[in-house]
Formats: sequence, C-alpha cells, structure tokens
Amino acid sequence: MKVKNIQTYILRTPLGNERFFSSQCSFPERNSLIVKIETDDGIIGWGEGGQYGPPEPVAAVVKHVLSPKLINKELQNPIRIWEQNYADTRDFGQKGTYIEALSAVDIALWDIYGQMLNKPVHHLIGGSFRENVFAYATGCYYRGEDVLNYKDSLPKLAEEARSYVDAGFRILKMKVGLLSIEEDIERVKTIREAIGPNTSLLVDCNHAYNVFTAVKMAKELEKFNVMWLEEPVVPEDRIGYREVRSSTNIPIAGGECEFTRFGFRDLFLGGCVDIAQPDICVSGGFSEWMKIQALASSFGVTVIPHVWGSGIALAAALHVLASIPPSPHTANTVPLQNEPIVEYDRNPNPLRDELLKTPITLQNGKVPVPQNPGLGIEVNLDVISKYGSEF
Ligand code: CA
Repeated sequence: MKVKNIQTYILRTPLGNERFFSSQCSFPERNSLIVKIETDDGIIGWGEGGQYGPPEPVAAVVKHVLSPKLINKELQNPIRIWEQNYADTRDFGQKGTYIEALSAVDIALWDIYGQMLNKPVHHLIGGSFRENVFAYATGCYYRGEDVLNYKDSLPKLAEEARSYVDAGFRILKMKVGLLSIEEDIERVKTIREAIGPNTSLLVDCNHAYNVFTAVKMAKELEKFNVMWLEEPVVPEDRIGYREVRSSTNIPIAGGECEFTRFGFRDLFLGGCVDIAQPDICVSGGFSEWMKIQALASSFGVTVIPHVWGSGIALAAALHVLASIPPSPHTANTVPLQNEPIVEYDRNPNPLRDELLKTPITLQNGKVPVPQNPGLGIEVNLDVISKYGSEF
C-alpha cells in the first residue's frame, strides 16, 4: 500500500461577538490545521496539528517538507515514519511548528493504520482500559467587550459555571491571570459559590505569573479546594515550576506547550508537575504519546492530555485516554485520583461541533471513546468546504 495524496486544509471560523479571552490573548476566531492522507487503495486518514499559533506555518511544513517524503512511497508503520521524519528535521525542528506538523501526519497515519488492521487506534497503542472517560468542562474565560470590567461580569460567570453542573459535569476549569490576584480571586469565589462544594474546580493561569505572584495566588486558591493549578509560570521556567510546586498543596499541571519525549523528560526530571498535559496534536502525535506516557508513569506523574481543537483532536485525545492504565492501580477508580479525565472545551467552536458526522457528545458526565477502526470518525467534507480551503 502506498501513500497516494496528502492534502492540508486551514479551517477558520470568526467568532464575532462570541470572542473570549485568556490571560494571554483574545480569541477572535477558532482555527484548525487539518491533514488528509489517502492511500492508493482508497483508505483515508485524518490528522490535526498545532493548537495555538497560526496554522499556515504548520501547513507549509506538511506540504513542503513532510509530504514529498511520503507520497508514492510504501506505507510503513507510523512509528518508523515518525522516527525518520524527526531525524530528518531534528537540526532545525526539535520543538514548535515542525513537531506540530509531525503530529498531524502521525495522527492521520495511525488513522490509516487502524483501518488497515481493522482496529481502533487505542487497541494499537496499549489497549482499552475504558470505553468512556470522565469529562471536565473548560470554560469560564473572560468574556464580553469590556473584559476588564470584571465586576459586571460576575453574575454571568456564575450562570455559566452553573450551566456546566446542570449539563452533568462534575469537574470545571476556569481562567485566571488577566486581572490582579484580588480581582481574580473574586471570580474564583463567585464560581465556587455557584457550583457548590461537590464540583471539582481546576484553575488555569496560562503562564500569567512570575514565581512570587504564582506562589501568592496558590496560597489564596488553597481556600477554595482547587484540584489543580495549571501553567502558573512560563513553560521555559522549570526551576520556577518546581518552586511553585513545592510552595503549595495544590497539584501543579502543565505541558500543553511542551514537545516530544525529550521535552517531557526535562519537565519530569525537574520535578515540575504533578499532572502532565501533552496535546496529541502538538507534542508529536500517537507515536510520541506512547513514549511520554511511559516516561510519566516511571516518574509517578499523571497524564491528562490537553485538548483544544476540532472534533479530530478530541477523537485523538480519547484514544490515548482509553489506553492510560489506572495510575496507581486500585480496586476502585476515582476521577483524576487514579482515573484519567478528558478536557471538554465548552467555548464556541463550530469546528469541534460540526466537523464530525457523528459529534462526540457528553453522556452522564462522560464522553465515549470512538470504537470504529482507526480514529473511528467520519469527517463531513461539506464542513471542510464551508470553513476551509486547501493550503
Ligand atoms: Ca491550559
């Protein structure tokens, strides 16, 4: 079987009045870089690469660097292809755009490989420990035009938080870091009161703080029973991560901006995180995921993938989540304590909601793992044409 064709699509959906903010930036649109690989006997695989930056550079690497190596070549095991591509681009592409492009191609190749072998991807990367995954809602960003006038937004914030509990979520993630600690703590207090004591709360800073501010924030958050504190300091500051982690009893999460087994090795050796958050579309795809997960388990670090993109990214994350062993093993499973949870983005994103013919939806607080061969998804080509164009 040979690779016949590789197409890259850039999908964009402007959000208009629905735009929202993290501590770092506004989100005026959602976008995704989608890769479609077709074999000479008609199997089609889908992948997605990158989550935060502009999609064009990732598309350029797929089109101009990786595709020429694969087209008209015999299809190999995706791990072998990953190793060859990484070796070819190592001197200039150990992190960032190149790894995001490798991720997109790797996910599409595993989709094809699964269809060839008639097995869902999770069967091929370690087996299935669960058919459904507890979901946490990612929401409660800064919203509205007057984003800094936080006091006016508190009733709406409470309403939004409560809507997730009403929808069946038992875990909610909110944003901090755009305002002063005092102002953000008022938002945390508003949400904690809205969701009550029985819903777990995760707090994401998007690396808004230096170490002493992060330590101060963590101290304040300890009063609100916070389940994890995400990206307290910039991802490069591994010593800072360790200092914040040793200063608080709140577990520290991070890693959505980290790449490959080599990046995560350094995060683990540095004692930086309790929870590692590789994004499958960013950190190297399924092939690299297996190495990161193995490393994490040897360091006693829990892995909960970061998920942000279209329905393809969500499906990819669910396959790896199915394959994570309960950690540590007990005769029972408790979400996050020893059972993985899936990030279920609740911000507006038509690409997540419309791209798959059968969208992946919440059922009783859990999300089902696709069970069909490969990624187990069917992409709606009309939606590709509606929002996207070929690069
Ligand atoms: Ca995050």
